[in-house]
Amino acid sequence: MLGLMQDRPLLISSLIDHAATFHPRTEIVARTCEGPIARSNWAGIRRRSKQVANALKQLGIFPGDRVGTLAWNTHRHLELYYGVSGSGAVLHTVNPRLFPEQIDYIVNHAEDKVLFFDITFADLVAKIAPALKTVTTFVAMTDRAHMPDLNLPNLLCYEELIDAQRDDYAWPEFDERNASSLCYTSGTTGHPKGVLYSHRSTVLHSLMECAPDTFGVNSSTSLLLVVPMFHANGWGMPYATAMVGAKLVMPGAQMDGQSIYELMRDEHVNYSQAVPTVWAMFFQFLDAHPEIDVKALGVQHICCGGAATPRAMIDRIERDFGAEFTQGWGMTETSPIGVIGKLLPKHAGLSQDERTSMKMKQGRGVWGVEPKIVGPDGAALPHDGVSAGLLHVRGPWIARAYYKGETNVLDDEGFFPTGDIATIDEDGYVQVVDRAKDVIKSGGEWISSIDLEGAACGHPAIAEAAIIGIAHPTWQERPLLIAVKRAGCEVTREALMEFLSGKVAKWWVPDDVVFVDALPHTATGKLLKTALREQFRDYQPLQPKSMGN
Ligand code: ADP
Repeated sequence: MLGLMQDRPLLISSLIDHAATFHPRTEIVARTCEGPIARSNWAGIRRRSKQVANALKQLGIFPGDRVGTLAWNTHRHLELYYGVSGSGAVLHTVNPRLFPEQIDYIVNHAEDKVLFFDITFADLVAKIAPALKTVTTFVAMTDRAHMPDLNLPNLLCYEELIDAQRDDYAWPEFDERNASSLCYTSGTTGHPKGVLYSHRSTVLHSLMECAPDTFGVNSSTSLLLVVPMFHANGWGMPYATAMVGAKLVMPGAQMDGQSIYELMRDEHVNYSQAVPTVWAMFFQFLDAHPEIDVKALGVQHICCGGAATPRAMIDRIERDFGAEFTQGWGMTETSPIGVIGKLLPKHAGLSQDERTSMKMKQGRGVWGVEPKIVGPDGAALPHDGVSAGLLHVRGPWIARAYYKGETNVLDDEGFFPTGDIATIDEDGYVQVVDRAKDVIKSGGEWISSIDLEGAACGHPAIAEAAIIGIAHPTWQERPLLIAVKRAGCEVTREALMEFLSGKVAKWWVPDDVVFVDALPHTATGKLLKTALREQFRDYQPLQPKSMGN
């Protein structure tokens, strides 16, 4: 027997309609690529996203067609989020930090018909345009006065394009399972792979992000969205903020410490999200500006994800900002939320140190995501906090296949294999040990590069650290620490190894330490270990050690 409730499709257009109707004057603030701050509100974003939808119609875009963006977090990108998906087309957010050849590949693979780009990417567009086989129109996301000097016959100006359109567009209704947006993984090995989200997956994911035990986004939130909108839909925040009418603050192309600080200060930001490298950069800025009263900013909640957050960073976030730190784990393939590290009532009595230890775990499954860990034979492992296995997840916002790729990438029970190794404890907290391809296999045991990097970052003179495995004749692999010192700080290789031997098991202590000026990062701000492994492939430790010494 079927239920008798209304069968309204879960569509992205319903989010912007809700925000514009019930929170019309809640501000949307963006640093523009031209420089000044632009102020809009949810009513304004809906008006202009409807103009975008009319413009797409005029450009011959039909439902299901892919529309690319090469853009930072701005109000215009937000208008495209709603205008493109709301009209039934598919928003393809291209990561501009990828290599130009990768961008060619994914735009051609997605068969984007229109490419909207920020003026900061004009040179990039000039370079790649000849290789883009399906793009018929390029749109520079600016006004006439700032149009880039590009010799493209089919180049339009965003403000002119949408100014010429009516703003009374009726969002179409269609099957909620239709594709809404497309985002490629960064493809550190092999070609990037396209993750194709649906309206249904996106709306359900947003609903979860607003729940108090997850991110708790609500109408009092003023969110500084540092996570790029080309990285897994900006962690879903452009949608979740509309669902509850939160204020959204976007940094545009300027993500330096000073610019982030000014937005926090001037826009009463009380919540922010970013990968740990962004916070590391922000803390370097704060180190250079001891006159800033960070607590006075009033930031109450900071969320980190995308890579493990070292203990020292969690401590500093909670101490300096006086904010609550929450960790999230996920991937492009998980929309991206998989697990979130909120504490339980039973943790209320823990000491600060014990709380931090809990927060270093990636978190518990939220409603909609079932995590499991499996051994090499695919059998599920116990949730005892000790058994480590491959992490698989299942749920309505988890990918089951890649765009134009394999039709099914799931295991026999319908779970997505994440490529991460993790433990799950009796309360359901997932702790990522490592990516399977990054874990160091030493003498038949695993050494977690995440744990070692976190321990190294605990040294006051270390700004950033990477651990890779180097070949060893007896132990198969041994860890090598590659570290960046904090500006103005000194530490020797011996002192750092001594420091680590007090923090981790003796046989985990790296065989050697190399100091570098900077570490390579992926297009999403993570350590680029493939490049480090290549660079240090034949590295010989200064004093080869044997395990247990
Ligand atoms: P890409 O695969 O393109 O680098 P993703 O953002 O999809 O980008 O990366 C997902 C991976 O990032 C996960 O599989 C995991 O290894 C890592 N990751 C994400 N969040 C965390 C976290 N909180 N702690 C540790 N690793 C994380």
